[in-house]
Amino acid sequence: MCEGKNQSPINLTGFIEAELEPIAFDYQEGGQEILNNGHTVQVNYASGSSIKVDGTSFELKQLHFHAPSENHIEGKSYPLEAHLVHASDEGDLAVVAVMFEEGGANEGLEQAWSSMPEQAGEEKTLQSSLSADDILPSDRDYYRFNGSLTTPPCTQGVRWLVMKQPVTASKEQIEHFADVLHEPNNRPLQPVNARPVLQ
Ligand SMILES: [Zn+2]
Repeated sequence: MCEGKNQSPINLTGFIEAELEPIAFDYQEGGQEILNNGHTVQVNYASGSSIKVDGTSFELKQLHFHAPSENHIEGKSYPLEAHLVHASDEGDLAVVAVMFEEGGANEGLEQAWSSMPEQAGEEKTLQSSLSADDILPSDRDYYRFNGSLTTPPCTQGVRWLVMKQPVTASKEQIEHFADVLHEPNNRPLQPVNARPVLQ
């Protein structure tokens, strides 16, 4: 089910200079539903938040988390990684990845974790809706590669946009997520094969 030469996650390294166009973020409040599906904790979005990449608009559908990080950057793993999953009208996918390192508490996580669904299959409503802006770093420079979903069916052709600048989360926030999931939920690194990683 998960075969192919362009799978995610990868170790991002050997960057090719490509003068990537800035991603046009247009994120609104709107994440209201928080769900523990047994594999991750996910915030679902009503329509209205989007990014523009390659002249195409991709609507934010959901964001979710992995601990430890799935992607590595130059061999470095992070304690937590957020995936902001977007789809175009044609059904093409674009994932913005944000790395967390241990440090100050993250306000977006504070908001989400205060309604943490502790049990698999549990769904809650956030007390105030979460804008994905609250998860993004201030510097929006990014790496780009062609990859896949990291859970079955591991669909390929996904535009991966990995923020270069990590954000911080407190030790307690990282541990809270890891405790709820009971076990690491990162797919192992996949071969890069012939793919360039652009920056
Ligand atoms: Zn993910």
